[in-house]
Amino acid sequence: MSAAILDGKALAARIRGELTEEVGRLRARGIEPGLAVVLVGEDPASQIYVRNKTTACAQAGIRTFDHRLSAATSEAELLALVARLNADPAVDGILIQLPLPAALDARRILPAVDPRKDVDGIHPENVGRLLMGQPRFVACTPFGIMKLIAETALPLAGASAVVVGRSNMVGKPMAALLLAADATVTICHSKTRDLAGVVSRADLVVAAVGRPEMVRGDWIKPGAVVIDVGINRRADGKLLGDVEFAPAAARASAITPVPGGVGPMTIAMLLVNTVTAAERRG
Ligand code: NAP
Repeated sequence: MSAAILDGKALAARIRGELTEEVGRLRARGIEPGLAVVLVGEDPASQIYVRNKTTACAQAGIRTFDHRLSAATSEAELLALVARLNADPAVDGILIQLPLPAALDARRILPAVDPRKDVDGIHPENVGRLLMGQPRFVACTPFGIMKLIAETALPLAGASAVVVGRSNMVGKPMAALLLAADATVTICHSKTRDLAGVVSRADLVVAAVGRPEMVRGDWIKPGAVVIDVGINRRADGKLLGDVEFAPAAARASAITPVPGGVGPMTIAMLLVNTVTAAERRG
């Protein structure tokens, strides 16, 4: 078997095209969707992510409000900015780029964002709503992955789904979405025993670990769908996923490439969430 390649770049482009039309309709009604992007410090990877997000917003007709703060910003200063953005009617969504510098505690900052503007889907209220089956905003990466899975022939109801990784941004919301779609979900992490055995029984594998090619190709059950969230840069600059791609693709029915799979979908879903917030204005 040779897997179908799940082209996240193409799907994201389609979604962004539809969104641009929706933004045009909103603008015609006098609503200009706006996203505030807050970057604290000089982390080079974060700077690239923020640039990609603001460019994507501009292409879709979404206004961005850029807030670049020094790494020495205090908690009080950042909370004051969040309060101003919460109160600003031109701001539909607020994105605080993570990770924050070590001196700032994300657990104290993120809950200060108005949950109706939490387009990253990480406010405790929105996480709770997701778990209770009443989602408001869903974290962008797992939200995008659900769209990719919908492109495959895999019926999620009753399927055995394994999520490797239990981060708040990816693994946990991913598991919640798959459970809500009636999959039988197993969450694996660094203490999981016999990871290879667990993965080898899965109809769907989502790998979100951050370790290059950790999920070996020969663990994949023939015909399984494989979603690779990992972005790992090798010394020579090449990007590698968390899954050993070629041997996994030889067994899977569908697989995401790295790059060009999950990454573009994450940005597209940030735009979707921002436009959704603008539609709910007022
Ligand atoms: P994270 O917060 O570092 O979480 C990694 C998870 O992997 C943890 O739950 C950890 O378990 C688990 N883990 C570590 N070693 C393991 C092992 N040997 N066996 C099984 N599980 C293991 O990472 P994240 O934020 O979820 O990101 C994961 C990867 O996805 C990274 O490469 C990141 O760059 C990438 N990413 C990509 C996108 C995108 O848009 N494409 C978005 C977000 C993240 P413990 O909890 O036990 O420590």
